Amino acid sequence: MEQARGERARTVAESAQDHVDGERLRRAIAQLAAFGGREDGGVSRQTLTDIDLQARRHLVERARALGCEVRIDEAANLYFRRPGEQDLPPVLTGSHVDTQPVGGKLDGAYGVLAGLELVEALNDAKVRTARPVEVVCWTNEEGSRFGPGCMGSSAFVDPARLPAYRAAVDGDQVTFGEALDRALQQMADVPRRAMKQPLAGFVELHIEQGPVLERAGVALGVVTGIQSVRWYAVKARGVAAHAGTTPMEVRADAMAACIEVAHRLQAEAAKAAGSGLRLTLGRWVVSPNSINTIPGEVEFTVDARCVDEQVLARFDAGLRTIVAGHAWRGRMELQPLFARAPTRFPQAMLDVMAQACQRASRIAGKPSPIELTSGAFHDAMYLADHCPTAMIFVPSKDGLSHNAAEETAHEDLVLGARALAHAVGWLASA
Ligand SMILES: [Zn+2]
Repeated sequence: MEQARGERARTVAESAQDHVDGERLRRAIAQLAAFGGREDGGVSRQTLTDIDLQARRHLVERARALGCEVRIDEAANLYFRRPGEQDLPPVLTGSHVDTQPVGGKLDGAYGVLAGLELVEALNDAKVRTARPVEVVCWTNEEGSRFGPGCMGSSAFVDPARLPAYRAAVDGDQVTFGEALDRALQQMADVPRRAMKQPLAGFVELHIEQGPVLERAGVALGVVTGIQSVRWYAVKARGVAAHAGTTPMEVRADAMAACIEVAHRLQAEAAKAAGSGLRLTLGRWVVSPNSINTIPGEVEFTVDARCVDEQVLARFDAGLRTIVAGHAWRGRMELQPLFARAPTRFPQAMLDVMAQACQRASRIAGKPSPIELTSGAFHDAMYLADHCPTAMIFVPSKDGLSHNAAEETAHEDLVLGARALAHAVGWLASA
């Protein structure tokens, strides 16, 4: 019985992999990129804008043409379902189609379109899987119009998050709730389904958005997990005063204090460089931000990431000591904003991904896949709290993403789609 199931899973997986059509995938990527496409090759398609809604409608129509049942949930996540022989919890794949204000044509979109290519491949191969296969398009992964990111996937995993998300506002004071209701209205023909439904597994195929695979000369990466992150704000309050009349020794200069703290943090990060710690002091708010006034208040953010939670715990302790111990004439405080422990994908899922990537690479005459961790957040990070989850990466040219110049060699995109088809075909049949 066990052996027969394994044999069948292999047949389905290999058949799905072999029926992936690279030209069809190329066309699908170009078609979707036309929604919000820019002269420079980039894409502007922020979540739930008119152009995003048009792109979603395009995907719904394509999925229906492929024979999929289309459903939508309260967070406007879209699900395209290819039924299985039995009404079991499905295997889910997909990603997001929203972009940064200026993004590329692949970030997120590639994962959704490779999912639809998998449905095409299963149709062409005339294969029925035991479980349903579903392709998902998660809402607001980027978090650039409404913060935080990954709203759709994290609300799917824990629907209690949605009410707070609905209150988030964009730059025009539109709430996420209003944008969501408009999207749901436009999709009134699509039946609703509940969030937090049981899943047999989730697989997300994505561009790496970093340089590791390109440097290694490898087309496929099995992602073992997503690194841990901690966010903070450092706030300094001194006294704003005249730049020309206030002697240096009596100043309470919030900028001078923050620069010194920032230098000490960078020195800590340099000491921990071998551990893979990444430190970014990315947002600075200076008040009154005037050329001839001593800065009275300064706030800056700290983004610290590492695959090793211990390293972040040590950095956290160092940060607290540096901020609390900084002697100057003003006050300084540290506010923790967000923390996320590292995500480790289950070994059984990594084995399924490795097998899928190895066969695709071998047939294409490419080097074997390698393992790597993800430096960026993905919807898979939240899904890992809900069901067995895994990710596959393909290389990013020059490691670039969130940029119009984002690019991946087409043959690598096809290889990634073949790996995904094998992995999902296997999981839906084993
Ligand atoms: Zn993405």
